[in-house]
Amino acid sequence: MTRNDREHLVALDKAHVWHPFTQMQGWLASEPLIVERAEGCWLIDTEGRRYIDGVSSLWVNVHGHGVPEIDEAITEQLGRVAHSTLLGLAGVPSIELAAELVALAPPGLDKVFYCEAGASAVEVALKMAFGYWRHRGVESRTTFLSLENGYHGDTLGAVAVGGIDLFHRAYRPLLFPTYRAPSPYCYRCPLGLAYPSCGIGCLEPMAEVLELHADEICAVVVEPLVQAAGGMITAPPGYLRRVRDLCDSHDVLLIVDEVATGVGRTGTFFACEHEGVAPDILVAGKGLTGGYLPLAATLTTQRVFDAFLGDPAAGKTFFHGHTYTGNPLACAAALANLDLMRKRDTLGGVRERGEILAEALAPLNGHPHVGDIRHHGLMVGIELVADKPSRRPYEAAETMGARVAAAAREAGAVIRPLGDVVVLMPPLAIPIPELLQLASITRAAIEAVTGCG
Ligand code: PLP
Repeated sequence: MTRNDREHLVALDKAHVWHPFTQMQGWLASEPLIVERAEGCWLIDTEGRRYIDGVSSLWVNVHGHGVPEIDEAITEQLGRVAHSTLLGLAGVPSIELAAELVALAPPGLDKVFYCEAGASAVEVALKMAFGYWRHRGVESRTTFLSLENGYHGDTLGAVAVGGIDLFHRAYRPLLFPTYRAPSPYCYRCPLGLAYPSCGIGCLEPMAEVLELHADEICAVVVEPLVQAAGGMITAPPGYLRRVRDLCDSHDVLLIVDEVATGVGRTGTFFACEHEGVAPDILVAGKGLTGGYLPLAATLTTQRVFDAFLGDPAAGKTFFHGHTYTGNPLACAAALANLDLMRKRDTLGGVRERGEILAEALAPLNGHPHVGDIRHHGLMVGIELVADKPSRRPYEAAETMGARVAAAAREAGAVIRPLGDVVVLMPPLAIPIPELLQLASITRAAIEAVTGCG
């Protein structure tokens, strides 16, 4: 691409594109990276510069970009039908994919409802849980219990159960009220305790809410093992199991949002497998199609499904569904992705790569401005702090996370921080040399920006 072509694109972008989760004032003054193509784990910009895709194109990419098997599956499906509706009709790839997802999911999750985005699939989960109680004649259950620092997407229902003030506070007047429990954020324990002597005391407030208000609560909503957008906050072992037990003892449904943690990210297909937990409703998205096309799914049990059965006049129909629900191209991509994951033992690869990445980052543990390194499989958060002994954060205006990401980009890796938590979420099958390069670029960027090597 010539310099003029690029400049024209930049001008058009700045004139017309409103970028998500982006302060556009800063964007308009910046020199944007325009991705033109990609190969394997590399993004290539309009000037031919190459960058490791260090956040797998927002936590979705599995086998890299340009995977012949997925390309072919989509092309073959294009030769059959690009889209037909699931409203009143069935489709071949959506049937096959539903059966595969059920086989991969924890036991009992036998029903699959498709969407295009994680947030929409969370809305489905909330409405399923609400409808479940209502159709069984329990009208007092009108709210949910969710966690501080939780993130479930940007639609209003998902925001109502979200707990990231920066993203959500402006919209609070629009939201239905919910109960909130503390986040299992051990590094900044909301109760001032320390694991393991705490006995996971942050579950006590959740237990209390359930004790007092279970008859108002449709479901507890959690991200299993890792609160991702909240800052890669890893829950202590046993936390999820105990949430499941609390739900059981209070007869409340459990919704597990696996949009970030699912499809192998933590080394098992779904993160809740680590603790042998089977939720009542599971939400998956992001990596389902290998990072190719938008697809999400909400899985649930026969019990929840049955609550919606009845004559049309009974008013129990699940009146929910999007135009492109279960799109055949996306389902075909997902089938090819899952097939490759099986053939290539991608889950084993994630466990191996997770250990290699943790080891490569370990020297940062001694860094005076690295407060905490949290990881599970190929989900990593490195929390930067102004003062390590007191764990004092940097002032937001210092934008340390963003500056580290900018330095990493200069050195050839695209990463995107969450505040001052530097996030690494590479494609699940990233080759080990690139993984090590990503780790060393990140270390060097942190050292350069904090001024401590
Ligand atoms: N749930 C979780 C746990 C997520 O991390 C995200 C996105 O990051 C979502 C839901 C929303 O997914 P989407 O952006 O596809 O709507």
